[in-house]
Amino acid sequence: MNIQDAKFLMSNSRVEECPAPTLPEYAFIGRSNVGKSSLINMLTNHKGLAKTSSQPGKTQLINHFIINNTWYLVDLPGYGYAKVSKDSRVKWQRMINFYLRKRENLACVFVLVDSRHSPQAVDLEFMEQLGSEGIPFVMIFTKADKQSGTRTQQNVVDYIQKMEETWDEVPRHFVTSAEEKTGRDEVLDFIQEINR
Ligand code: GDP
Repeated sequence: MNIQDAKFLMSNSRVEECPAPTLPEYAFIGRSNVGKSSLINMLTNHKGLAKTSSQPGKTQLINHFIINNTWYLVDLPGYGYAKVSKDSRVKWQRMINFYLRKRENLACVFVLVDSRHSPQAVDLEFMEQLGSEGIPFVMIFTKADKQSGTRTQQNVVDYIQKMEETWDEVPRHFVTSAEEKTGRDEVLDFIQEINR
């Protein structure tokens, strides 16, 4: 898929105020600092579209972008940032839960995990929740340029094996690097496939 046009639309805290659900929507989420903004900018080919986080855990809104006037890209606030207060965490949970359950045009959630790390409980729990609610999702392993390809593959295999302990079917996954612009075609082709 070629990206001809990518525009920021709006930020909301309530699913009711999101744009009319007339186009398929793809949401990106992960732990703070996982590389979500960098990935969104790489996918859309727009350097400053999503704000890279100078203050992790700060953006607590649902951010809508419209791509090629045919689909919505949503940048969701990250989780797992230690310094966030309990109050903010509860607010985050409520907002995200509502969004994930009520957003009728949500075609797929991209759950980002850092390809350098072994499986993390916070990510596994989040995906467990998505799976149990029947919300479609796939995984993206980010920052693949940070280590050797062999090391990345080992971490991916460890993750998949961990998930196979509790899942009949493991989610589809992609490996990306915003730095080296790899994995872009695979992710965009996947979106195009669903949009068809
Ligand atoms: P966010 O908090 O998930 O939106 O993460 P950011 O996109 O702001 O990235 C967090 C940090 O990781 C920044 O310092 C980025 O430059 C860095 N980063 C993000 N993606 C990559 C990548 O693919 N490769 C490398 N080497 N660094 C990355």
